[in-house]
Amino acid sequence: MPSFVIMEKCDGCKGQDKTACMYICPNDLMVLNKETMKAWNRAPEMCWECYNCVKICPQQAIDVRGYADFVPMGASVVPLRGSEDIMWTVKFRNGSLKRFKFPIRKTQEGTAVPDGGFGEVTTDLASQCLYNEPAALKLAALPTVKK
Ligand code: SF4
Ligand code: SF4
Repeated sequence: MPSFVIMEKCDGCKGQDKTACMYICPNDLMVLNKETMKAWNRAPEMCWECYNCVKICPQQAIDVRGYADFVPMGASVVPLRGSEDIMWTVKFRNGSLKRFKFPIRKTQEGTAVPDGGFGEVTTDLASQCLYNEPAALKLAALPTVKK
């Protein structure tokens, strides 16, 4: 189920040109209504529930209804991002709570290396290998299906 904004919590990122959810969405789905200063998901059918907007929202104003096979009705999974880690609060249908905390990557904005340091993009489109395989797997070669 796609992401949705809890209107009571959203403050429009205090009127910044680009809100946090607009910045982070890989599908460019989040937009801000400049009159109400509330964000919304303009194409829920295009949302792949990556949770990026949920994790970045400073107001915890975005939620995703997880698929029922892992988040049954009445349960919820809510992240809270800090500067050092992220805490996931899992609320079960019977009301019990569990919390899991994990460290987060702290790469400075704009300093991520897109190719992971592996160098030039492989241009052999006919190859059965994925990007920078086999080097990225520290192998000399991968077994492939003979044509
Ligand atoms: S990141 Fe959160 S608070 Fe900011 S505009 Fe989006 S939903 Fe609203
Ligand atoms: S869950 Fe991911 S794809 Fe969906 S709106 Fe949020 S950031 Fe975009």
